[in-house]
Amino acid sequence: MTTRELDLTTLSPTRLWIPKHVLITRAAADLPHTAEIVRRCELAGVDDIRFLSGNALTGLRGATERETYASAKNTLAVVVAPPSALKPQPIPPSADWRIDLAKGCPAHCQYCYLAGSLQGPPVTRAYANLDDVLDGIRTHAGRGSVTRGTLERGDEGTTFELSCYTDPLGIESVTGSLAAAISRVGAGEFGTDVQLRFTTKFDDVGELVTLDHGRRTRIRFSVNAAEVANRFEGGTARMPARLAALRAVAQAGYRVGLTIAPIMPIPGWREQYGALLDDVAAAVAGIDDLDLTAEIITHRFTPASKEVLLGWYPRTRLEMDEDLRSQKRSKFGGVKYVYPKQTMTEMRGWFTEELERRLPAARLLYWT
Ligand code: SF4
Repeated sequence: MTTRELDLTTLSPTRLWIPKHVLITRAAADLPHTAEIVRRCELAGVDDIRFLSGNALTGLRGATERETYASAKNTLAVVVAPPSALKPQPIPPSADWRIDLAKGCPAHCQYCYLAGSLQGPPVTRAYANLDDVLDGIRTHAGRGSVTRGTLERGDEGTTFELSCYTDPLGIESVTGSLAAAISRVGAGEFGTDVQLRFTTKFDDVGELVTLDHGRRTRIRFSVNAAEVANRFEGGTARMPARLAALRAVAQAGYRVGLTIAPIMPIPGWREQYGALLDDVAAAVAGIDDLDLTAEIITHRFTPASKEVLLGWYPRTRLEMDEDLRSQKRSKFGGVKYVYPKQTMTEMRGWFTEELERRLPAARLLYWT
């Protein structure tokens, strides 16, 4: 189905983040992409758009931790990515390279992956020097060994992951960074053998389905059992809306994927995740040229992420009990807590089998 055949009226997002405050640093003020961000913010009705006299983001702290969190999650900062953020980094097992359009996310997931890696109040910082960010695609196309050149995934070309430090679709209506990246890669500006990929919990795909993406972007939707999503994923689009968006982008010719994460062995997990896989199968039924992948990630936490998450969500019912977990050490000596071996083996076996049975169109890329 072509974009023209899609019913765009059904693509209104169910969850749209509009910041209350937009702060633009001095270094970012005159960059062309900043003008686009300001245009989008004005269009969205943001009336507090401030050009700062310097490059420091100050005044982000409220009287209490709660106030600081709430205000930060309502703030979009437009900044220049520092040189350290511009160098693409390998990001196994997802992609050859990570490049960042932004850092921070306005949603409120109680297990947030960013908790251990963000410093200070969780403001979303959009990078205004978009040309510099995307230049990493130019310099690293044809390099990399995570997916490029591998038997299983070499057909993807050199892969660039956009969602390591943000949910790029969650902020797209006020940044436009994703549309710019997808269009430029789609037009072949960085060659024909590169692929963007990102994962999202949002459903704002009305603009994306109109782009000439050249099938060089894979849009993955982060999905979970209804109980996990409803309880822990505040500020995101509900699961049926994500699946409708998945169908829409697949119909528009995008390569698509599922990030089934973080999976948790909640009571009745087989039934709950089985229902999810059935819902996905229904959502992608009858789509021509469907290219669907799946990545499955179990829940884990680190001492640092637990501390931050308990600060943000003190009353969370998310299980983060070291005694119920196994310790896993990274090669740099860091500790993370994963489910015990027996639970992992059981879940892995079930997911591998049921994915193949209920959703044979999906290609499993990895389990972790
Ligand atoms: S959508 Fe992703 S990045 Fe955003 S709060 Fe949820 S887990 Fe964190």
